[in-house]
Amino acid sequence: MSGPIAQQITLGELSITALILGEIYDRVEDWFAADQLSDFRSISRLPVICLHISGPGLSILIDACDPRQYPINGVEPLDIQTSLRKIGIHPEDITRVILTHGHHDHFCGVWDLDREAANFPNARHILSAQDWGNGTLTATAQMADGSAANPGPLEKLWQMGLLDLDTCDPPLPPGVSLIDAAGETKGHRVVRISSNGQAFYFLADLFHVPAELNAPDLCPIWADAPALKQSRRLLTQAIIQANAQFMCSHLPEVFSADRFNFPSFLGEP
Ligand SMILES: [Zn+2]
Repeated sequence: MSGPIAQQITLGELSITALILGEIYDRVEDWFAADQLSDFRSISRLPVICLHISGPGLSILIDACDPRQYPINGVEPLDIQTSLRKIGIHPEDITRVILTHGHHDHFCGVWDLDREAANFPNARHILSAQDWGNGTLTATAQMADGSAANPGPLEKLWQMGLLDLDTCDPPLPPGVSLIDAAGETKGHRVVRISSNGQAFYFLADLFHVPAELNAPDLCPIWADAPALKQSRRLLTQAIIQANAQFMCSHLPEVFSADRFNFPSFLGEP
């Protein structure tokens, strides 16, 4: 995969680019309890998406995977710096990297293993303190990825003083805010972006596969299911209320509140 643009969205003064960095390969049916899988179409490849926000004086990245750490059939994907440069985004211009949660496929691209250097050297990186403690990932953040959950890239940033927890200094610009959405991990957060009265939500891993959007009781086995379902309900209501657009980390489509048929579980106040 060579990092195609999945979506390009204009939101007021902002331009939002969703970039497919590569794919991860997994037996997705193993993510869910067998008795929940009545209607499940098996998926083995999931795109990994990062989102870039640009606007006047603004260059922000949401999530950073290094897909070279998830090779498929010997196909070597591009590194994140090259993928971004190919679409005209300069990694050194990025001033904030928002990490939605402490799972490896969302943060492993903050550090380049070949160059032993930060991929976004001029950026403050921000992660929830719930997913980070004593200089490494918390146990609950590491659980999902098992052996793949190497916290090394984040530990490098932490040692260099480039990682902020919960809030960052200077703060995020107006129109970009983080919303707690626990479930996937304790510190999982989604990003609300707004400009000129329009709103867009990057929901990260609130939903991973289409089956979950249609059946929001379907939760991966590592998740805190009651917390995840509550987060799904609250975020969906906010999206409907704002008539917003939204997308997720592993689903390359943009959904619109006015066109998406939310299951009643999610839409009920
Ligand atoms: Zn993920």
